[in-house]
Amino acid sequence: MSNCIFCKIIAGEIPSVKVYEDEHVYAFMDIMPLSKGHTLLIPKSHREFVYDMTSEEAGRLFSVAPKIASAIKETFEPEGMNLLNNNGAKAGQSVFHFHLHFIPRYGASDGFG
Ligand code: 5GP
Ligand code: ZN
Repeated sequence: MSNCIFCKIIAGEIPSVKVYEDEHVYAFMDIMPLSKGHTLLIPKSHREFVYDMTSEEAGRLFSVAPKIASAIKETFEPEGMNLLNNNGAKAGQSVFHFHLHFIPRYGASDGFG
């Protein structure tokens, strides 16, 4: 989709710090991290919401979540990690291209939640 920030990131038109890429998905560091190591995982095909994805598309995306979470855990050594997906403005979604947040947690000092 021509107007979508995340489609532009996938196309390389907007720079990003890549964490992982394969044929179907792309993962990169969040530009305004809620905590150190905050990462986003997105499908390469433009899908706005979880409702728009097939089981196969969702399966491909979630199948790499353990690998990405493990890499974040090894690199940043958080005490915990939230995986989060917002659907709709009411739910806090601000970029309307499906994304799964990986938010490392560092205890009381991480300034989030
Ligand atoms: P949402 O609120 O839609 O669940 O999350 C959108 C996320 O995308 C936010 O955490 C925001 O910081 C991130 N974001 C928005 N624009 C950009 C961008 O241009 N580059 C990167 N790396 N992250 C972005
Ligand atoms: Zn898009």
